[in-house]
Amino acid sequence: VATISVGDLAKRMGVKASEVIAALMRLGVLATLNQALDVDTAALVAADFGYEVEQAMTEELEVEALQEQEAEMGGEALPRPPVVTVMGHVDHGKTSILDAIRKTDVAAGEAGGITQHIGAYHVQAPSGDLTFVDTPGHAAFTEMRSRGAKVTDIVVLVVAADDGVMDQTKEAIAHSKAAEVPIVVAVNKIDKDNADPDRVKRELSDFGLIPEEWGGQTIYCLTSAKKGVGIEELLESIQLQAEILELRADPSRKAKGTVIEAQLHKGRGPVATVLVQEGTLRPGDHFVAGIYSGKVRMLINERGEQVQEAGPSIPVEVQGLSGVPQAGDEFIVLTDEKMAKSVANARQLKARETELASASKVSLDNLFEKM
Ligand code: GDP
Ligand code: MG
Repeated sequence: VATISVGDLAKRMGVKASEVIAALMRLGVLATLNQALDVDTAALVAADFGYEVEQAMTEELEVEALQEQEAEMGGEALPRPPVVTVMGHVDHGKTSILDAIRKTDVAAGEAGGITQHIGAYHVQAPSGDLTFVDTPGHAAFTEMRSRGAKVTDIVVLVVAADDGVMDQTKEAIAHSKAAEVPIVVAVNKIDKDNADPDRVKRELSDFGLIPEEWGGQTIYCLTSAKKGVGIEELLESIQLQAEILELRADPSRKAKGTVIEAQLHKGRGPVATVLVQEGTLRPGDHFVAGIYSGKVRMLINERGEQVQEAGPSIPVEVQGLSGVPQAGDEFIVLTDEKMAKSVANARQLKARETELASASKVSLDNLFEKM
């Protein structure tokens, strides 16, 4: 979680640090001059002084604070598993490839086949750990991206060797490019008589996905999900691509992540699948998810087992929310309940204002229509 010190915040707003400390106290937070405030807390206090922390400034703060923290902590960011989304044209074998990969999970053991579907899951494959985000309708790229969330590190593009590049193949390429996410190609169904992997390579080369063996930078794997051929190689290629990306996160921080999906469960109340992206999430943590706050009552993994923590790149089902957040909402752990509630309240207020603003705009439009 990015931070700014009380002193720095005061300086930026041109007020005395003691005034900022007093404002924090009104919010129920006891702070000292050098205390690190997370961006949401800083935004709340700034609002108290009539400052609106704009997105750009928030980002600037985050970058600055992250750099500061890195300098202070001397590279505590550790390698983290890649987060992967499988995309491709319908019937080209996405589900079959995911099933084949799940079978390689050494953690699943005997129960390997009965994996519970929670929209994202972690696999301990022989070539290394990785996480799959498996949301319907490519929500990982459409809804989530429209909300500013980035969850995917690598796209596995599945193209059937007997069918080649189709509409949804092109769409997947467009989404990946827009999000600047590298693609690993799985040329699937190579067991078929009319399979023509070279044709797939030629067609995809027109979209800039030039195979390494042709002097390009795109990794291609030949697979048959049906026969279980090439799956290990595909997993190794994903790890290879991940190494190039140098994916890192600091597990010692307070957790921060993204809501992958959420719903109201009859018995358990609101539940959300959260992908942890920084830090480590634990039961008892106070958090904000979108406009809702909560305290982690229970963490459940993709196999329905209760877990005591979830670190970077690990998806977990979180119970203990006060409402149902939206896919793509940011999930942030804060210092305490008061802080979580006040941030959630501030966000609800802002959401309501936005709603009111658009409602009054609509009614004005209606008015003009009538005139
Ligand atoms: P999705 O729509 O992309 O998720 O595709 P599916 O995984 O549901 O596969 C569509 C069809 O292709 C199913 O009938 C699969 O059994 C079949 N299929 C998937 N992979 C292979 C493969 O490697 N070889 C062959 N021959 N069939 C496959
Ligand atoms: Mg499918």
